[in-house]
Amino acid sequence: MQIKQIYETAISLGLKNDLRGQAVIEQETVKLRTGQAEEIYPDSLIISGRPENKVKKILAGIDVGAVEIASAKYYYKNIDLIISHHPLGAALNGLPRVVGSQTEILKNYGVAEAKIKDKINEASLAIKRELAGDNYLKEFQLSTALKVALMTVHAPADNAAAALLKQTLKNSQTLAEAVAAMDGLPEFKEAKKHGFAPFIACGEPAGAIGQICYSEITGGEESSPAVYQEIANAGFKTIIAPHLSKKFFDAAKRAGLNVIFSGDITTDSLGLNVFLDELAKNKIEIIACYGLIRPDN
Ligand SMILES: [Zn+2]
Repeated sequence: MQIKQIYETAISLGLKNDLRGQAVIEQETVKLRTGQAEEIYPDSLIISGRPENKVKKILAGIDVGAVEIASAKYYYKNIDLIISHHPLGAALNGLPRVVGSQTEILKNYGVAEAKIKDKINEASLAIKRELAGDNYLKEFQLSTALKVALMTVHAPADNAAAALLKQTLKNSQTLAEAVAAMDGLPEFKEAKKHGFAPFIACGEPAGAIGQICYSEITGGEESSPAVYQEIANAGFKTIIAPHLSKKFFDAAKRAGLNVIFSGDITTDSLGLNVFLDELAKNKIEIIACYGLIRPDN
């Protein structure tokens, strides 16, 4: 496959599992067909490398920095493309726009748009201000100098993780059943060997799970603590989150929501693996590193 075909595969997967609803998906699909794929998920981009170059071997990870790029070149060798889940370079500067899309995700979940829009916009601007201090060039420059192509696949993988978890939990009636169902996934079994398992951070194991909101998994970053009361008001009982910082967790608890932590590394691996499995079908060799749990590797 060419780098650009791999990129388009990622974007298509993101659209297939997009939580913003059918109308947005159709509108964004037009962009994919008209050569504006980079506009769809600005946190997921080809950072360096020629789009037409062929790829046989990929090194994929959750977090990729300068050390990882150098090891791709000098330790792993013959790597045609590095895929990082977390955004770098231009994709990092695109992250605030993806956070802004949480308004559409929650709107599609039935949350009142007027109640959350300003709060999420403010969160997006706060991330933009933060990123003004970031060194967004170093990975681009190093991967270009070492001639190892680099791509980020963030929102599309998170969308796939949310869809997979939704499918996994579809028959769970209680919080304990939900955690047990998650434990059965290969990524979680592997994580257990390293001491991590998903857990109920708030709520009773025997408590009814009710309607589950998956918006914490996708949308880039935490947005605003004010959203949890609105999620509860929209009829949700439980949120599944990779993790939440204290301020956000406390707000979810105050809103009376049950919270299950699925863990960052496990949840990110879950989503990225859905994408990498697609590539593996095309006889591309995948090497997992930098935090990616890939059970069959
Ligand atoms: Zn993620």
